[in-house]
Amino acid sequence: MLVVLKANASEADVKAVCEKIESLGLRAHAIPGAQRTAIGITGNKGEVEPAALESLACVQEVIKVSKPYKLVSRELKEDDTIVHFPDSDATIGGNEVAVIAGPCGIESREQAFTSAERVAKAGARFFRGGAFKPRTSPYAFQGLGELGLQIMADVREQFGLLIVTEAVDHESLALVEQYADVIQIGARNMQNFSLLKKAGRARKPVLLKRGMSATLEEFLMAAEYIMSEGNYNVILCERGVRTFADHTRNTLDLSVVPAVQRLSHLPIIVDPSHGTGKRNKVTPLSRAAVAVGADGLIIEVHPDPDKALSDGAQSLYPDQFDSLMVEVRQIAQVLGRTIADPVAEPGKRHAGVAAD
Ligand code: PEP
Ligand code: MN
Repeated sequence: MLVVLKANASEADVKAVCEKIESLGLRAHAIPGAQRTAIGITGNKGEVEPAALESLACVQEVIKVSKPYKLVSRELKEDDTIVHFPDSDATIGGNEVAVIAGPCGIESREQAFTSAERVAKAGARFFRGGAFKPRTSPYAFQGLGELGLQIMADVREQFGLLIVTEAVDHESLALVEQYADVIQIGARNMQNFSLLKKAGRARKPVLLKRGMSATLEEFLMAAEYIMSEGNYNVILCERGVRTFADHTRNTLDLSVVPAVQRLSHLPIIVDPSHGTGKRNKVTPLSRAAVAVGADGLIIEVHPDPDKALSDGAQSLYPDQFDSLMVEVRQIAQVLGRTIADPVAEPGKRHAGVAAD
């Protein structure tokens, strides 16, 4: 159920309607839009009786949401969600196509700083890197843990990049929330419902990767889990699904981008690194992702991919990332969007904070 308030409703009106909803034993989610505020109702076991809400003076209408996902849906919020970050002018979901780049895993301070400097110079505003790695083999590199997070925090300090890193379980999520700017939930955890709920109680935006065999509805329902706990800053990420095709690691499903945008107000970005698994396919698929309307890219870049402890085969050399940025910037322009310009000396000012 969705309560649409009149355009002139005040903050006090919003609060009063939320209190009324909560007094019925339900949860209220006030979502301000460009034209008016809508309040989503969750927690109901059956039908909600609309009369009690329709009678309030500031309420325009009470609508039954037809989809199983409610807070994620465009029915609740017509205009696109733009994720903002404190002390930064970088956004995800706005006119600027967000670029997140960095190694698969944080391996050492030197490796992280070398990649960060290069991606920042090329114009990326976000730095990726796993401190906790979900690996298929228990014997493969599992990440540096909290040390990896500390290195990433130092990268933010040095280059002004916002930090995106994965939480694999409840313990790591608590740590990642402290250090990161965006909490990544990986493909393997897309239906880890208790982790999704915990991410929903976190105070940082969540980057939710599509599960390897998730349908669009399952993907959106996973985002709904996060939002239902009160965290409305969710960014979706297409990273390829399993198919019979074996010329790539996964099959990058770019058609999901417009499909998501039709149904949901949430931003959607694309990961051509995991989506293809092959370095020589990352740039072409990045171009295609921007052309199809993705709100961002997440790209693996390593200073020495042949020695990478994870995902070397799909990691770009820094020079290749430079070219990728030049190409996708041109494509963004055709669509009336932008990608941040290269920066000669990346520092705090790149994140919108005045340099010392
Ligand atoms: C990653 O981003 O390094 C990662 C493990 O991604 P995914 O969850 O998409 O496999
Ligand atoms: Mn990886």
